[in-house]
Amino acid sequence: MQKHEFRTETKKLLDIVVHSLYSKKDIFLRELISNSSDAINKLRFLALTEDNVVSSNENFNIEIIPDRDKNTLTIKDNGIGMTRDEIDINLGTIARSGTRNYLEGLSQSDLKELPDLIGKFGVGFYSAFMVADKIEVRSKGFKPDDKGVFWTSNVDDYTYEVSEIDKTDRGTEVILHLKESEKEFLEDWKISELVKKYSDFVEYPITLNTGKEKKKINSQKALWQMKKDEIEKKEYDDFYKSMTFDFKDPLSVVHYKAEGTNEFTALAFIPSEKPPFTFFEDMKSGMNLYINRIQVLSHSEELLPHYLKFVSGIIDSSDLPLNISREMLQENRKLMQIKQNLTKKILGELESIKKERLDRYVKFFENFGNYLKEGAVQDASNREKLLELLIFHSSSSQPHEFTDLIQYTSSMLKDQKEIYYLVAESDDLARKSPVQEMLKSKGFEILYLEPGIDELLIQNAPQYKNYEFCNIAEEHDSQKEENASEDFTRFKGFIEWAKDVLKDDVKDVKLSDKLLESPACLTREKGSYSFNLEKALRDINKGIPASKPIFEINPKNKIINNLLNMFEKDRSSLKLNQSLSLLFDLSLMQEGSDPRDVPKFADNLLSFMS
Ligand code: ADP
Repeated sequence: MQKHEFRTETKKLLDIVVHSLYSKKDIFLRELISNSSDAINKLRFLALTEDNVVSSNENFNIEIIPDRDKNTLTIKDNGIGMTRDEIDINLGTIARSGTRNYLEGLSQSDLKELPDLIGKFGVGFYSAFMVADKIEVRSKGFKPDDKGVFWTSNVDDYTYEVSEIDKTDRGTEVILHLKESEKEFLEDWKISELVKKYSDFVEYPITLNTGKEKKKINSQKALWQMKKDEIEKKEYDDFYKSMTFDFKDPLSVVHYKAEGTNEFTALAFIPSEKPPFTFFEDMKSGMNLYINRIQVLSHSEELLPHYLKFVSGIIDSSDLPLNISREMLQENRKLMQIKQNLTKKILGELESIKKERLDRYVKFFENFGNYLKEGAVQDASNREKLLELLIFHSSSSQPHEFTDLIQYTSSMLKDQKEIYYLVAESDDLARKSPVQEMLKSKGFEILYLEPGIDELLIQNAPQYKNYEFCNIAEEHDSQKEENASEDFTRFKGFIEWAKDVLKDDVKDVKLSDKLLESPACLTREKGSYSFNLEKALRDINKGIPASKPIFEINPKNKIINNLLNMFEKDRSSLKLNQSLSLLFDLSLMQEGSDPRDVPKFADNLLSFMS
């Protein structure tokens, strides 16, 4: 036997694997299986150009053999195998240049972060040292006269030995002498579980040799690599469910192959609902990245923008380097293209669901609409498309119906330059809000938006196409010009008086041009939060000052004119004062707020009724 020392960077990796990576230790099986699958791939590739490498009836196979007596776990393949020289190079040094560079650049403080990172991009063969204190490899190359070779390493002293052995069959056996604490990996159920979890779609059969029988424990089905018309809906559904743990069928499947300089296959699922039993955050959504059928990232949020985190699926690329880490991912140009391309496809799919299956879309939107709103805020490059995916109630639709910005803008009045909207807690409050009376009577449509998220949306995406969004419950510039009107002269004194009475509660009192029938309404200063959003913000931060509304009154309204008469007769009348108070409180209630002082409001009302 010849004794060797591992190279410096290999020692460093071994150190990490043995001492800090244990939280991810079960990935070792994935790594060894993927090496075996690579080895078979290499042989098959070779066989394309060389004769007599494999026979025509070759059964490629990866076998897992637990031996509870010897406490060993063997992973055996009939792939390309290794010669003595190859084994020396391959297992004595770190093959992956990415891993090597990465390790060389590591500082002491990085090491703390490492377990998580390194587990993501794989540590290959050496990961087996997380569970084994001794590893033996028996291998034989594919050439008929290749000799069998034996490699063994005891991790304690960072050395390994190589020697020749008798081995006649081609391929590699990796024999792990499990640590005392890792005997669990000898259990059939545990092995099956890990294979199902990490290697289910490996192209070659993985068999478990239980001593009594050999049974296949992976499905081998790479659904995403099959042709779309060869896949049944049920297969897609099952695949989705096993991947996400969702128990509902997905709403839709996006499955395509991108050709050209950046080739990849994508299979992505759009869920129909959030599972009711769990918080969405727990759902196993996100995309898995496969490079040449080997999973390198699972449930990753890097492969799609954050706002599409409800999408799950697989990207399989043959153009990406296998040793990709999270950091490298974010900078990889090919992956960015994949991300952009898939994002567009998913938005396109949502668009067609919205067109063709609106009822299903509405349900989807109730669950995930807020993510699309987040997208419209974040993703400037897809903003228009995302805005078009939003659905709203509006003054022109029935309570259960929806409209969208495409429809809204196509049925705008001739000179309309803005998209009118109103923020209200409920559809009912919105429909009955007096603020919209004048606009509605002129034939304008008003979108009804939700407090909070919709307001943040409009703040960040203030335009759709060339149309600005306009909050109709805000004062607008033209109101100032009306100060010269006849009504203004008539109501000047009354307004001064009302301002004085309500001085603690209002910012201003004004004549309104928004009202048709109602006596009064509340508006806010331009650019301010709606009362709902302000309330939500103040719940979080008490320091935010409460803003006061503008009290707008309708000079054409009978009640208002009665009040004016009363005012002109006797401005100190208690009844006049109570009426104004009551009117203001009612306006608060129409906006969705509470009256300022409920007992006083009740007293006022009762005294009127008597
Ligand atoms: P990686 O798989 O990323 O190259 P590993 O450390 O896992 O890194 O393996 C190092 C090398 O050892 C591989 O590149 C391959 O050449 C060789 N090797 C590992 N396992 C096998 C196997 N089962 N059959 C043939 N060669 C193998």
